[in-house]
Amino acid sequence: METVDVAVIGGGGAGAMAYLRSVLNCDRTVLFMGNKTTSRRGRAMWVGEVDNIPGMHDSKRPILGTVKSTLAWIDGQESLKGIGTAVKDVVTSIQRDGDRFILNHGADEALNARYVILATGIMDVQPEIGGSIEPIFPYANRGEAIYCVRCDGHRTLGHTLSVIGHNSTAASIAAMMIQRYQHKQVPILTNGAEPEFSESSKKLMSVYDMPVHTAAITEVLGTPRTGLEGFVLADGARIDSTRTIVSLGIIAYNQLLTNLDGQVDGSGKAVVSEKYESTIPGLFVVGDLVAGRKMQIYTAWDEAVDAADEINRRLRTRGYQELLGDLT
Ligand SMILES: Cc1cc2nc3c(=O)[nH]c(=O)nc-3n(C[C@H](O)[C@H](O)[C@H](O)COP(=O)(O)OP(=O)(O)OC[C@H]3O[C@@H](n4cnc5c(N)ncnc54)[C@H](O)[C@@H]3O)c2cc1C
Repeated sequence: METVDVAVIGGGGAGAMAYLRSVLNCDRTVLFMGNKTTSRRGRAMWVGEVDNIPGMHDSKRPILGTVKSTLAWIDGQESLKGIGTAVKDVVTSIQRDGDRFILNHGADEALNARYVILATGIMDVQPEIGGSIEPIFPYANRGEAIYCVRCDGHRTLGHTLSVIGHNSTAASIAAMMIQRYQHKQVPILTNGAEPEFSESSKKLMSVYDMPVHTAAITEVLGTPRTGLEGFVLADGARIDSTRTIVSLGIIAYNQLLTNLDGQVDGSGKAVVSEKYESTIPGLFVVGDLVAGRKMQIYTAWDEAVDAADEINRRLRTRGYQELLGDLT
């Protein structure tokens, strides 16, 4: 079985940067990009436009675009030939084998790697409306249902806004939107869930105007062509809202780590060291799956560079020690 220096798992922004950095470091690297199913569940697919990164304003689907052009650029570099391979395949499990990892992928195939960089990401929990998560998707695609306030909070300016959520995070987000963008009122829709607000959130909600509606959402008002207009609730209330922020938590794609008994936090994100190594030595985690960091493209890139450079440092140190051993 072939052994490579680095296996990168995940073809989003974090995985692409980890692959690029490893290849530029001249470490033999395989990138597993996932397949159609994992891509659809990945966040990269949902990012239509990026406003908060210089140089990305004119791109449509900038993460998918930059990943594609980066892989094409690497493929076109004569001097980098044979260092990296990118495959559209899913890693199904990882085993430890001495000082390396065995990655099982595709239809019964396996690869040995000295180091692994895991960049499988997370997904935002979607609101169920009438028993399905489908009704919100057209408005998520239009950027009117918002999942990342650091990315898209400013897009609520001049709009009626609601927050879908039932805990203190939802209340904090609503308060931030009122303070930052001068919204007069931001209703919180728990969509049938029992409210779980802390005492300090309740204070925040009484200082600012945040009515809490606990009835389930039964209908989304608007059309995929003309845009979001609001929601109808089970108690008959109509909530006018041309933008909504979804704050229902995340699903962490951490199985490859947890199957090795790697440590995760309460939300399922990976606990890592300063250089993004998980509690499994040699297995690094970067991107949205990292606990306690911003979930942004630029942080994913920075984490990926740190992890790939740390791996390269260890490979170089090992090579140097082997040379030293030969001399003594
Ligand atoms: C609607 C929306 C808008 C956003 N806008 C912005 C913005 O404007 N600016 C900004 O900085 N950030 C934005 N973000 C956040 C940004 O999308 C994420 O921070 C970034 O995509 C994280 O990248 P990632 O590589 O960690 O994860 P992802 O992009 O989710 O990529 C995960 C990858 O892993 C692959 N994968 C999963 N499992 C496997 C497996 N077993 N084997 C192989 N591959 C696998 C998937 O196919 C996918 O390619 C936005 C997020 C959302 C949801």
